[in-house]
Amino acid sequence: MGFELEKKAGIDAVTKAARACVQMHEEPEFREALYKTDGSPVTLADFFVQALINEELTTSFPEIPIVAEETSLCLEGSCGEKLRKNLEKFLSGKSPDEIFCAINRGNHGGGGRGRFWTLDPIDGTRGLLAKRQYAIALALIEDGEVVLGVLGCPELGPDARNGAGREKGFVFFAERGQGSYQVALSNGIQTRISVSGIARASEAVMCESVEAPDSSYEFSGKISRFLDITAEPVRMDSQCKYAVLARGDTSIYLRPPLQKNYKENIWDHAAGYIIVREAGGTVTDSSGKPLDFSIGKKLRENKGILATNGVIHEAVLRAVKKTVSKKRHPG
Ligand code: AMP
Ligand code: MG
Repeated sequence: MGFELEKKAGIDAVTKAARACVQMHEEPEFREALYKTDGSPVTLADFFVQALINEELTTSFPEIPIVAEETSLCLEGSCGEKLRKNLEKFLSGKSPDEIFCAINRGNHGGGGRGRFWTLDPIDGTRGLLAKRQYAIALALIEDGEVVLGVLGCPELGPDARNGAGREKGFVFFAERGQGSYQVALSNGIQTRISVSGIARASEAVMCESVEAPDSSYEFSGKISRFLDITAEPVRMDSQCKYAVLARGDTSIYLRPPLQKNYKENIWDHAAGYIIVREAGGTVTDSSGKPLDFSIGKKLRENKGILATNGVIHEAVLRAVKKTVSKKRHPG
């Protein structure tokens, strides 16, 4: 069965949010931040986009629940007062109750049965705060399988390695079995995208986080040397890393398995995962296991992430395996 209606609604909602973000980019309130209990920042932009997209999706599909990153918790009480007031202003005069209600429509727990949306309203909040990359990430999951993904990348240029000063802002989308596409926010031109055609890992450009522990760069440096990669890595926040891999700017996205008990959130990967796969690439965890989106909000059965153009996947997996085992048995 196809997902035409869901796809249209998802693309429309993400595009609307991405355009609003472009308009608000220079407003000082846009980056007004609070800090969650885990120390990570959350901004007016995160709440604004989550309220906007949840409301759009619930209007079109009241029966499909949403698993979204944010809750209204930080906004309640005195420390959230200023942000609450600014949100009311940007969300065209909605009351705090209406705003909380829209945000908290994202409180579903996920799982392996039926359908649900998963939303990261601002993926890469640290990137947004620093005026680097960020993404609006939406996916539809059915019986544990990602069937649709949309990524809004308002700050992304046309080439990850050479984008300075050129026109920016793209929405990427993919439906299972239907390929991956990129739409320019500036003119609406839609192009089918595919991963790079390189056949040797040594020719790859690697993509990795901007804000990662030093051990992560150390790990990916070892992988690069092992594979004789000479190109400088591209460092980028958010699921924009999946988008640039899907259109062939880069060929490897590695998220090393560094912290033993760390589990990734489904909303940090679902949209990018299907966009890369439908563009011809392969996405697994860093040991080669398929990603399992069917067990709640976390990828509980997976460690690290490896996305490639497909052709070089096995070669990179071998390099990761050798590097992990060397770390365990130094010398
Ligand atoms: P991203 O925006 O996808 O680059 O993610 C950045 C966030 O993920 C930062 O807060 C990092 O601390 C965290 N992070 C980056 N690399 C890893 C990793 N290999 N394992 C777990 N967390 C990571
Ligand atoms: Mg987020």
